Order: sequence, then structure tokens, then C-alpha cells
Amino acid sequence: MTTTDLIIIGAGPGGYRAAEYAAKQGLKVAVFEGDEVGGTCLNVGCIPTKTYVHAASFEEARERLLQVVPQLRQGVEGILSNPNITLVREKARFVDSETKMIPVKGLDDPRLVDSTGLLALETLPKRLCIIGAGVIGMEFASAFQSFGSEVTVIEFLKECLPALDSDIAKRLRKTLEKKGITFKMGAGVKSLTPALSEGEGGTNVVYEQKGKEETIEADVVLMATGRKPRTEGLNLEAVGITLARNGSIPVDENFQLSTLDSQLSSVYAIGDVNGKQMLAHAAEMQAIRAVNHILGKKDNIRFDIMPAAIFTTPEAACVGASEDQLKEQGVEFECRKAFYRANGKALAMNEPEGLLKLFSEPNAGKILGCHVFGAHSADLAQEASVLMCMGTTVEQLRDMVHIHPTLSELLLAAAEA
Ligand code: NAD
Repeated sequence: MTTTDLIIIGAGPGGYRAAEYAAKQGLKVAVFEGDEVGGTCLNVGCIPTKTYVHAASFEEARERLLQVVPQLRQGVEGILSNPNITLVREKARFVDSETKMIPVKGLDDPRLVDSTGLLALETLPKRLCIIGAGVIGMEFASAFQSFGSEVTVIEFLKECLPALDSDIAKRLRKTLEKKGITFKMGAGVKSLTPALSEGEGGTNVVYEQKGKEETIEADVVLMATGRKPRTEGLNLEAVGITLARNGSIPVDENFQLSTLDSQLSSVYAIGDVNGKQMLAHAAEMQAIRAVNHILGKKDNIRFDIMPAAIFTTPEAACVGASEDQLKEQGVEFECRKAFYRANGKALAMNEPEGLLKLFSEPNAGKILGCHVFGAHSADLAQEASVLMCMGTTVEQLRDMVHIHPTLSELLLAAAEA
């Protein structure tokens, strides 16, 4: 009889990474997955949306989606074919997250979709209304506008992308506005009702902005107002696990269940279900930490330095604190800026639109954060992230040689500013 050292529920980025790493360390692993392997990221999240961002037309995007997703799924199945791993195609699982619906009238409208529904559309909507200017809302707004849809984004807050430096977020929004996307900021959606005009059977989205009620008509409405952990159906309460108010599973710094019941101390929750950082790469690193903890191994993963990117065109990305957060925390800091229009490579690429902001401790001290928008900004935030992990100061960055001409020189330019 074979024994199992580790049972993993769900083969998303967290689950398959945990399985791969644990199997390499010699553990016998069983992975339960009732759906396709790859989770939200591969099947209906990061990967499909990126094929949309990089495609020239809606038709090309759909075609590439149908090639890329199965190809990557095969890759994950390859990882899970390790002799130390048994893949059990059973439904019992913790699954990542699902779309949070806001309480408005008309949620049963057939034209209302979540991001999974939008990716399943076979024809390009002429008029797309997006509720929420968070990561999902902005990425789809950018992709569908480039395919030719008329896109309107309705956002409750004053600015898009709440986690991004508000100066950077505003400039990104203005850039997308210039491309033709309409933004209704500080606007709350009230209801969705079938439109009777034009005989086209669209949906009227009613929203309130500055105390006035307005309506726009759309052929498809995307709900992108956040995602919530998908933990129901697991009967967690029966084994004494109390979910947090947002439905997430409370865990400690090793992603082990925070509970006094010692029987549950062998249970870990990684990925969207713990509600900490809803990012595929965060789930992967949480997987490594959890397996290390099981094995009694120490690691130095810095969960406080979590780079993230928004794959609009142009991209935006960040790591560490924004100017708004530093001010809010009353931290003393310096802010240095570098503009894409002054970077040789950006001009050669015809990508003059963009700004990088680098935050540090006073006197060119340790880097505290980097927020940026512009072509390939994810790569720049990644470099800043590495520097932050190493505790690099702005003064040290000034002495680091950067290849010319590269977009990376923007970081050097900011350090020298
Ligand atoms: P989000 O939390 O990023 O943004 C939701 C937005 O909806 C916010 O700006 C919020 O103010 C707005 N909103 C909420 N209620 C509203 C209302 N009634 N009317 C108008 N606006 C309203 O959520 P998301 O964009 O749905 O993304 C979900 C999760 O998936 C996030 O954690 C995100 O990080 C993750 N994700 C990441 C990536 C990436 O890293 N590139 C891509 C996609 C999704």
C-alpha cells in the first residue's frame, strides 16, 4: 500500500507548484482536481487575458486562446505525471475565487457576464460596459477597445486601480481615454434593465454620478468588482474552521490554518482561498512556503515584497508602497521620477507614453517601492522587486551598470534624478 504524505485540493498555480516542489523533495503527493488542471490563471484568468492583450483582433485572440490554453494544460499535466504525484480527477476541492456580484437590480440580465463569460463570447460586442476599474476591468477594457468595441467603464471610486499609485493610475487612465475608452469615475451602478430602444435588445445600465442618474446602453455588461474566495461546499465549518467575513480561510505566515484545534494543524490554505494576495505568482510562492514548513525547512521568501502588473496596453506595474500609502503611513520618503519620453529605447520603440516613480528612504536610502506605467513596465517593477529583496539603496543603484539602450535605464535615470 502506498501512503500519501500530502493531499492537495485544487490544481491551480498554487496546487500544481506545491505538488511539483513537494514531489521533488521526495513526498508522496495526491492532487484532487475535478475540473481542468491549471486553475483560474490558466483556464479563465491570466493566460487567456494575455492572449487577448497580444492579439490584433478578437478573432485572432479566440483562435490563439484555443491553442495556448490546451498547450499549457498539457504542460501542467506533464508536471503532475511525476511518479511521486497521483492526480485524482475528483470534484472535492478548494477552488480559488469567483466574481463578487454587487447588490444591484437586474443581476439575472442575460447580457451580464463575469470575466469567464466574457472570454467565452464568440462574437465581439459592439458596446461593452464594464463595472469596476480594477485589474480585470482595466485589462478587458484595453483589449476590447483595441478589437473595436465601444468600451465604457463605470467605477465607484475617484480613480482606477486602487492598489496603484494614484498619479500613475490617473496617467494610465488618461492614456486609455485618449485611445477611446470612456470612464465614468465616482459612479455607482444602480440597476440593469433590458433596453427597449433600437430594437437591438441591449441592456440599460443605470448609474449615479455626482447625484445625477445616468443611463448607458450596452450589448454586454462585464461585472469586474472583485473576486471572493470560493470556499462554499467544502463543509469547512463541520471540521471547526471558521471562515473570515469575506469568506476566506484564516491562515498564519506559513499558510497553516489559524486554529487552536491541533488536528487541523496539518491543513494549509494557499492561493485565493486565503484571501491574502489574489495573484498566481503569490499562490506559487505560498505553495513553496507551505511545503517548506511541512518539511521543517526555513526559507527567505519575502511576501511583503509582492510585485504585480496590470496587462493593459501600455502595461502598469508596481512593487512596494505607493506615494499615497507612504503619506498615509506618515513615512519619510523621497520620490524620484523618470519619463519614457526621455528614454532612448522607449522612443526607438515608439512608446513615449509612460512614467516610473521610485520611492526610497531619505538621502537616497533603501528602495521602498516602484510604481510605473508604460511599455514593458512589468519588467521594470520586477527589477525594482529584486533590488528591494536585496535591501538595495538608491545610492547603490546609481552605481549599477545598465545596458544601453534599454527600458531598464529608466530605473537608473530615476535613481539619478
Ligand atoms: P479589484 O479589487 O482589482 O477591482 C474592483 C474594482 O471595482 C475596484 O476599483 C472597486 O472600486 C470597483 N467597484 C466595486 N464595487 C463597485 C460598484 N458597485 N460600482 C462600480 N465599481 C465598483 O477586482 P478585480 O479587477 O475584479 O480583480 C479581482 C482579483 O483578481 C484581484 O485581486 C486582482 O489582483 C486579481 N487579478 C490580477 C490580475 C493581474 O495581476 N494582472 C489580473 C486579473 C485579476
